[in-house]
Amino acid sequence: MNKVTLLKGDGIGPEIIASVQKIFKYLDVPVVFEEQLLGRDALQATGQLLPAKTMDSIRENKVVLKAPYQTEVATGFRSVNVSLRQIFNLFANIRPIKTLVPGISHHEDIDIVILRENTEDLYIGKENVIVENEEVEAIKRITRTASTKIIEYAFAYAKTHNRKKITCVHKANILKESDGLFLKVFKETALKYPNIIVNDLIVDNAAMQLVMNPNQFDIMVMPNLYGDILSDLASGLVGGLGLAPSANIGTEFALFEACHGCAPDIAGKGIANPTAIILSACMMLDHLDLKQQSEQIKKAVYTALSTEGLTLDLGGKLDTKQFTKKIITCL
Ligand code: NAD
Repeated sequence: MNKVTLLKGDGIGPEIIASVQKIFKYLDVPVVFEEQLLGRDALQATGQLLPAKTMDSIRENKVVLKAPYQTEVATGFRSVNVSLRQIFNLFANIRPIKTLVPGISHHEDIDIVILRENTEDLYIGKENVIVENEEVEAIKRITRTASTKIIEYAFAYAKTHNRKKITCVHKANILKESDGLFLKVFKETALKYPNIIVNDLIVDNAAMQLVMNPNQFDIMVMPNLYGDILSDLASGLVGGLGLAPSANIGTEFALFEACHGCAPDIAGKGIANPTAIILSACMMLDHLDLKQQSEQIKKAVYTALSTEGLTLDLGGKLDTKQFTKKIITCL
């Protein structure tokens, strides 16, 4: 039996996690969830945002299924989502952007993998107030070590997944030293993989190209902030955040979560689309070498998405529980 640390999240988190649990129970998937606390709830219960018990559970189980946690805007504590990625050195954020079902996506045949560096860049959260209310600076940290890890990962991923092309996204025309280093590492690494087509794009152009001609992309690799923004943009090409899964991978630990946040605007209404977290759970099953169960669930999700009866975000009328039931009938 595989033990997995479960973090149920804020907002829509518990609603969408319940869908995964129902599907796993129905299929008798050999995974035991060990539920732990994180963030605001953990602070209330234990006085800690990242309780020692949760950290120990992750260290022991090495695999996490996580729903989104809220981070207040312009005030409050640091993102626990970002902290986990840094503490467990989950350097690669894998965000597949795929046309799941014709009709739901705005484009056909999209199959892009965005690989986002996950541990540094502006997300180190170092901001210096120089003059209160007048002048602030934020530190963008790019290291050769972290850049090499994600870029080597991208080339290895291309080889193992039979992908042909990698596009490096940057802003090295302005950020000549930081993004310049990221691009330099990309170009150096590319020399070792002559069979893989490479190119690079400035991030603003990459955003426009993604909207106008997304099929030109195969794998895209980029620093943290651009990966965060462009992966949300790209999810919009294939039906929105409700469909976009992700995996955070390190050398020892792996954490699986949807790309989306805790959606406070719909939290508590029971109408969230559970597809993104279910597909993230499938990425987790692949990682655990439970490929047959993963394939079975994915097939049922695609069937559920291709017939009448969708969730509200996709123009349908079904709530989270009804759509989960529909997936289960497709299993
Ligand atoms: P969001 O992703 O929560 O929501 C953006 C929009 O997408 C909203 O309109 C929401 O209703 C919709 N949406 C998101 N998921 C959906 C789903 N499964 N089904 C249907 N509609 C869905 O982004 P936000 O509003 O900018 O952020 C809300 C909070 O989530 C913030 O506190 C933010 O910090 C946090 N957040 C957490 C993570 C994470 O835990 N990894 C990621 C992103 C944002």
